[in-house]
Amino acid sequence: MENWLKKQAQLNPNKTALILEHSDFTFKELDESVQLYASKLSTRAKKHDRIAVFITNSFNGYIAVLALQQLGAEIVFLNTRLSKDELAFQLRDSNSKFCLIDDGTDISEIAQVNFPQVHISDTLSLVPDKSYQPVEEFNNDDITSIMYTSGTSGRPKGVLQTFGNHFYSAIATSLNLGINYRDSWVLSVPLFHISGFSIMMRSLIYGIGIYLIPKFDETYINKILINERASIISLVPTMLKRLLNNLAPKQKYNSNFRCVLLGGGPIDNWTLLRCNMLAIPVIQSYGMTETASNVVALNNRDAERKVGSSGQALFPVQLRIAQKNDEGIGEIEVKSPTLAKSYLNMPELFKQRLTKDRFFKTGDIGYLDDEGFLFVKGRKDDMIISGGENIYPEEIENIYSKIEGILGILIIGKRNENWGQIPIAYVILNKNAYLTGKDLIDYGRDHMAHYKVPKEFRQVDHFPQTSSGKLLRRKISGIPYNLL
Ligand code: ATP
Ligand code: MG
Repeated sequence: MENWLKKQAQLNPNKTALILEHSDFTFKELDESVQLYASKLSTRAKKHDRIAVFITNSFNGYIAVLALQQLGAEIVFLNTRLSKDELAFQLRDSNSKFCLIDDGTDISEIAQVNFPQVHISDTLSLVPDKSYQPVEEFNNDDITSIMYTSGTSGRPKGVLQTFGNHFYSAIATSLNLGINYRDSWVLSVPLFHISGFSIMMRSLIYGIGIYLIPKFDETYINKILINERASIISLVPTMLKRLLNNLAPKQKYNSNFRCVLLGGGPIDNWTLLRCNMLAIPVIQSYGMTETASNVVALNNRDAERKVGSSGQALFPVQLRIAQKNDEGIGEIEVKSPTLAKSYLNMPELFKQRLTKDRFFKTGDIGYLDDEGFLFVKGRKDDMIISGGENIYPEEIENIYSKIEGILGILIIGKRNENWGQIPIAYVILNKNAYLTGKDLIDYGRDHMAHYKVPKEFRQVDHFPQTSSGKLLRRKISGIPYNLL
């Protein structure tokens, strides 16, 4: 395919490509800025070089990523919220030539390892290389981004994402949403996640404008959604709740607004209802770093009818459930042109996750209803088997979450001689809640099969989380607790 940025600069030179708080860039202007910066970087980064970036959603970061793509580099996206050890591991593992970073940050200091780093501001003043040429084509099979998984189930894995992956992902989403020339997307999720980077890639493929949000600020984002022409925003459930809580009565999003694309996990019915009342369509979705963003989406029109579902497989995506039990529940497998090439340094592990007919074993458990709607039950590794019965922690957690006074609950399996495993609970209680272990067991017995009721309740004041805010179930037993 022709270089996407060059193509848009030619097709839509005067169309807005990037909107910042105090300035706008057309595709022609964006292309000029990116090419100028790429020409300055070109003595340091060459085609197929692996370069890490440690950036927030800043203008400089946005330009730097696009410039590296114009140079044909493989961009390793580092999560800026990683711990010291995680960061040191990813720098080492990626074997990047150097790390390009926003100003005011020192990666060697954060990771406490010596690593070649280049500040974006230091490279802005370099003399452009006159012989610089942007890559002519974006080849389907070429790797453009390397992104680490969240590390929820173990050590994060570097995922090799190709231009073809991002292209098909953008097409799948456009076939679902329909994209027109008036659309623009609010980029408030991190650029270093697939949720954020995929928006940048969609902008190049669709030729639409991006509102770049440097830091999640609900007042600022609501102002954009109310007063500007922004039409689509990608969010995770907690972000959506923060936006709703910040809306004043009778405030409405602009008439061009079309939907919230929601990822990362399920949403509760109350939030969905509030969105309905405010005429904010929500499209729920399911996907992973390995599938370069969403592969399944639940459109607003089906949301009420299919509560709890993540939706149907997008157009070029095939979905099936393997090793189903009597209830049709089993491992979710995906076949899709958006499926990454492999894992960095672990091709064997990736191969092991592919079936003979090239479906990817997601490690998630779920089922498909008779209309092909997917219901995700949780992760295979988290499933508890007690006396031969399968227990899905999320199902129990959802039931207990309805109790006022419970701020958080996590269910894990504890080894047991008689049953193999038994479910036990870790709870975070509201300070004013008067709940005893017996109250909670009685509640469970009224609302679920007895084998699912947690046999112990342990009170904690926080849950361990990954740097992207996911609960780290496998680490929970390490924190001190009081039995209720
Ligand atoms: P790791 O692969 O390192 O364990 P991770 O799987 O959390 O980390 P990501 O690629 O960021 O890394 O997350 C994808 C996972 O998030 C999915 O495999 C699934 O478990 C979960 N997920 C995504 N969307 C949904 C959803 N709508 N409902 C439930 N779970 C979801
Ligand atoms: Mg995963």
